[in-house]
Amino acid sequence: MILIVDDAPENIISLKKVLEKNGFEVDTASSGDEALKKILKKSYVLIILDVQMPGMDGFEVAEAISGYSKAKETAIIFLSAASANVNLITRGYISGGLDYISKPVDMNILLLKVKTFYRIYEQSRALNEMQKKLLEEIEFRKEAERKKDEFISIASHELKTPMTSIKGYIQLLERSVDKNDTQTVKVRLHKVQNQVEKLNLLVADLLDISKIESGKLKFNRKYFNFDKILDHIIEIMQQANPNVKFIRKGEIHSEIFGDEMRIEQVIINFITNAIKYAPESNEVHITSEQRGDEIYFSVKDFGIGIAKDHQLRIFDKFYRVEETSERFQGLGIGLYICQEIIERHQGSIGINSEPGEGSEFYFNIPLHPETDAQS
Ligand code: ADP
Repeated sequence: MILIVDDAPENIISLKKVLEKNGFEVDTASSGDEALKKILKKSYVLIILDVQMPGMDGFEVAEAISGYSKAKETAIIFLSAASANVNLITRGYISGGLDYISKPVDMNILLLKVKTFYRIYEQSRALNEMQKKLLEEIEFRKEAERKKDEFISIASHELKTPMTSIKGYIQLLERSVDKNDTQTVKVRLHKVQNQVEKLNLLVADLLDISKIESGKLKFNRKYFNFDKILDHIIEIMQQANPNVKFIRKGEIHSEIFGDEMRIEQVIINFITNAIKYAPESNEVHITSEQRGDEIYFSVKDFGIGIAKDHQLRIFDKFYRVEETSERFQGLGIGLYICQEIIERHQGSIGINSEPGEGSEFYFNIPLHPETDAQS
């Protein structure tokens, strides 16, 4: 918008008319004081300023606005009979641009100058916009790079832990083999197997992440018996964690349509976390029940729990509760994958938790999902 400042109403009217006819938006002020008030409130691209006005003259107005942040980008065209002094008097004004036109005003020249200032203004605005976007992009990439580095360091550490155990057990195995001690060989082989399984799960999770990113996580759906796979998982979990008491509630009578292996993955993840994040407790409650056309499944522990603000982000990729991340190993991707699996089954995943009291992770999925969402 352009602001015309002139004490003579007839000048204002004729200038306004020409500018508006050429598509510019125009505001007016009939004194220096009024102009200052308007400039304080609004941003103008250009001010056309009469030099000779009673009270505050045009140069004084220019000096006064030189400090306004709102007028930082504003250009000024003086309408002056005494054009020679313009640069001297207003050198304090470091604005978007400065120019003058001698009176009587040649409208063609004025229009030319106005258009030039507008073009410069548009160009500098576009440049600023581009610079802002570029800076945002740089920040975004820096943050992504930092997250990636952090992830690689955590992932390598997580992979190294079972690797080191495997190496150690194999050395011990060699000794037991030399001694022909079959009993100990069996025990150590079992331990190696456990660590290999850990490694396998970690690599599978990492692969899942990259499949999710590239939209290539595929599902192999068919009807299956939910409670049967749940019983099977609990049996295996019980063998691996003899000290934990699994309390099973509810029953599902219908078969459900989904990817058995992927649902199994979610159940295992919930139970593994319930054991991992409740080192002081040995009870895990597992519920599966039919609620209308949906199944409800939950795993409740009596462990460290999660504060409300973390609960909102717990399903984000790589998110781990910082205060406890040193104490418990992990990559922060299990729940992210669980969420993807459940949402792709048209279900919902959630958590109820109180710090210090424990957590309950649950999901709902439809027994018979709509067919067009299957892939
Ligand atoms: P990981 O356990 O490998 O870090 P997850 O994605 O499974 O990754 O979990 C993300 C984070 O959620 C964990 O780091 C932990 O802070 C928190 N969390 C998950 N399950 C529980 C639980 N049962 N009790 C308390 N905190 C949990």
